[in-house]
Amino acid sequence: MTEPTVFEMSSPGRCGFKFPAPDVPAAPLPQGFVRQSLNLPELSEVDVIRHFTHLSQLNYSIDGGFYPLGSCTMKYNPKVNEETARLPGFAHAHPLQPIETVQGCLALMFELQEWLKEIGGFAGVSLQPSAGAQGELTGVLIIRAYHRSRGDTRRNKMLLPDSAHGTNPATTAMAGFEVIPLPTDARGNVDLQVLLSHCDDTLAGLMLTNPNTLGLFDENLLEVVEAVHKAGGLVYGDGANLNALVGVARPGDLGIDVMHYNLHKTFSTPHGGGGPGSGPVGVAEHLVDFLPGPLVKIVEEATEEMPPLYGLVMPPYTIGRVKSFYGQFGVLVRAYTYINMLGPDGLRKVAEYAVLNANYLLSKLKGKYSLPYDRVCMHEFVLEGKWDDCPEIHALDIAKRLMDYGFHPPTNYFPLIVHEALMIEPTETESKQTLDAFADALLKIAEEARANPQVLKDAPHSTPVRRLDEVKAARDLVLCCWTPGQ
Ligand SMILES: *Cc1c(COP(=O)(O)O)cnc(C)c1O
Repeated sequence: MTEPTVFEMSSPGRCGFKFPAPDVPAAPLPQGFVRQSLNLPELSEVDVIRHFTHLSQLNYSIDGGFYPLGSCTMKYNPKVNEETARLPGFAHAHPLQPIETVQGCLALMFELQEWLKEIGGFAGVSLQPSAGAQGELTGVLIIRAYHRSRGDTRRNKMLLPDSAHGTNPATTAMAGFEVIPLPTDARGNVDLQVLLSHCDDTLAGLMLTNPNTLGLFDENLLEVVEAVHKAGGLVYGDGANLNALVGVARPGDLGIDVMHYNLHKTFSTPHGGGGPGSGPVGVAEHLVDFLPGPLVKIVEEATEEMPPLYGLVMPPYTIGRVKSFYGQFGVLVRAYTYINMLGPDGLRKVAEYAVLNANYLLSKLKGKYSLPYDRVCMHEFVLEGKWDDCPEIHALDIAKRLMDYGFHPPTNYFPLIVHEALMIEPTETESKQTLDAFADALLKIAEEARANPQVLKDAPHSTPVRRLDEVKAARDLVLCCWTPGQ
């Protein structure tokens, strides 16, 4: 099934516009500016609207259906966020405006800094980084600056669990550290013995995602943090999974020294397709002087007649700027709105329902799909998309078949430590009915795998394009494959 293009729908003489009668004498168009070869399609307005509306609906979206992409926190994005982000005072502010004229924007940023400190249990927050990965780079650069400031220049090793997101080793290597992988033990925790064997005076730190990408809270977290600190290292928290903890536990209280928040995940900004994002970084007291700036500060306290005056400061030993101007301001407005609408109790419910939903789904699927780390999960869980009695079926086949049932596939082939991984994160915003329908589809697919494996191998059957060469599609992207006159 191929969509007809607007050119194929074209009918000679059909027209979608009408100009008012000219009130000036007609004059010929200047020569050379009009392309005779343009060959525009001829369509009515309603044809054009229907065509493009239909094309837009071919995109799967969180507003269109369930999106259980693990590690991505594809929760519903409340529409009120979009309203506030579009308020003219925010949307039309220019980053070079004099500071007195953007006091409202700065007030919002200041309060968001304060709220993120409170939520994460940190002494300072910088809103600069523009994504989780950039927050990671910022965080490891802060760790590097901290050790250097103490003349502690031998520390060049950064430990990373083998369940880590690919951005962790990438940013660590970019910051000049040696990446040391840590194995995961049989219960899905960091292997404490291997960790201890690396705890010496060359240890710069550990980068930890908690709950980790298996959706498990590290049962030895306090011992892990203590071992790293005892050796003189610092602990970086990858905060991408904060959705499981928000309002319940604070990473700063657990001993994490520096962490990024993925505002677009935990605090709801549409982020399918790669952005925009925002990755503020929170730090404990001993790291606040290294934060990237500018930070928003109250420079004159409020009086009875006047609100406070906000200004911008650079911390004394700052690692510098990591982003032009003030970070991704539109995402900051959305996160501010989201936090403000929910309040402390609402945020806590986010984590509680996210964990409940994940465990509900897990309990329905367990037994029919194998669960390599069999524990109560946090906000997501990882199944194996393979069965011994139908070896020809892979996670990819299951993912593609789910599309025929109207669902976006879960994350597959990540984390790398689970073979044929299917990583499922339902989020807190889904109803029991949706979770049941999704579980039913996966259970049906498990039956089909035995009864009619070819239907999985050939899936998806219902989409305009079938299985793509995903590597070629990414490397050799052709966005316009039809030209007029073809
Ligand atoms: C999403 C994610 C990141 C990277 O965040 P981006 O905002 O996509 O750069 C890092 N770690 C984990 C565990 C993630 O899920």
